[in-house]
Amino acid sequence: MPELPEVEHVVRALRRSVTGSRIVATEVTLPKLISPSSPTAFYRKLKGTRITGVNRRGKYILIELDANLVLVVHLRMTGQFLVLKPDDQLPRHAHAVFYLDDERRLVFRDQRQFGVMKLVTISRLGKTKGISELAPEPFSEDFSLAYLKETFGRSRRTLKTLLLDQTRVLGLGNIYAAEALFRARINPFKIASELSSLRVARLHQAIRDVLRAAVSGSSTSRISLENPDGFSYGEAFGKVWQVYEREGEACYKCGARIRRLTHGGRSTYWCPTCQRR
Ligand SMILES: [Zn+2]
Repeated sequence: MPELPEVEHVVRALRRSVTGSRIVATEVTLPKLISPSSPTAFYRKLKGTRITGVNRRGKYILIELDANLVLVVHLRMTGQFLVLKPDDQLPRHAHAVFYLDDERRLVFRDQRQFGVMKLVTISRLGKTKGISELAPEPFSEDFSLAYLKETFGRSRRTLKTLLLDQTRVLGLGNIYAAEALFRARINPFKIASELSSLRVARLHQAIRDVLRAAVSGSSTSRISLENPDGFSYGEAFGKVWQVYEREGEACYKCGARIRRLTHGGRSTYWCPTCQRR
């Protein structure tokens, strides 16, 4: 599953590739992708619209169109966008094809078929289910230290759980939650409201640092929409994690063995020395 930095790279690649293009026709071969809209209504609304920009809210990709419309897309597990030239063959699992006015095709493919797509008017975007509940963007002013202190202060959940709740703290999946906690030297099983102010501040900084590093890392910019077999999520970073997926290996800071605990299908990784309880 792509984490926020990977979605950000998809957004940037889309923005470079399709901004300014006009959609001349649309084809959806997996109706549940756009449910509850009917394909006919979907095609009609999109026909002739121009892509004016591509942005992101959380892991929702926002393809902005003139006519006050936004195509909201969530990749879920395996959703991918590709841009095909006239001679390129349509790949497998191509569930939505947007025919552009320059003869290229913008294709959404999704092997596991959990992706979702929804056309909303700009004025309804903030009220759209899934988006309206999201916590502030991690790089925005709203995601302040005061915000994090207040959020933690009200929660009896463990940090590990709370950090993954996108309605409280936005942007961290399993990988970056583990990495941020390691960087801040905080134990993942600590109760949020019991964290000292100093530690909240350290974690606030660490969250921004790990996400910023992932978003700006040069290795991530190789997400290319023009190469259908070019990328898969999770490999795009080619990065060495400090604790994630390093169970039993030596901590880079202190040499202790990295530990792992699995609950609810998710693994938590931490260094028992650097991240004491
Ligand atoms: Zn350590």
